[in-house]
Amino acid sequence: MNKSETILKSSSLSVTAGRKRILDIFLDANNALAHQDIEVKCSDKYDRVTIYRTLQTFLEKGIIHNIPTTDNSVRYALCNEVCISSGHHHDNHVHFRCDNCSKTICLDDVSIPSVKLPTGYSMNEINMVVSGICKTCKKVKVPV
Ligand SMILES: [Zn+2]
Ligand SMILES: [Zn+2]
Ligand SMILES: [Zn+2]
Repeated sequence: MNKSETILKSSSLSVTAGRKRILDIFLDANNALAHQDIEVKCSDKYDRVTIYRTLQTFLEKGIIHNIPTTDNSVRYALCNEVCISSGHHHDNHVHFRCDNCSKTICLDDVSIPSVKLPTGYSMNEINMVVSGICKTCKKVKVPV
């Protein structure tokens, strides 16, 4: 059993070719993906609606989480084991958006600092996106 099948089964989802294919795209990518990125990679077999529904299912099951971006295009990234095994989201990490390559990356080891809200406010969700230059781009720019 490969990784995508294991994830689908542990999330009590039936293993379909479409789900496997889309999950494999996430497993192969080391950055967050926009709906369009996924579409480009599997438009030969799956239409927009199928991809959209699959992403919604993955979001509900704690397999992927979404990341708001400044350009209004939502991106999706694979969750860690904690979300996947519990079926609930526990994502509390900072996201990094590279100004050079436009990739959005999960910084799993960097937690969002706690925010103290004024009395009367309650928090549902907190997101933090840091922009700058990623380590891959930094390497390219430094002459060896
Ligand atoms: Zn999650
Ligand atoms: Zn970059
Ligand atoms: Zn993330």
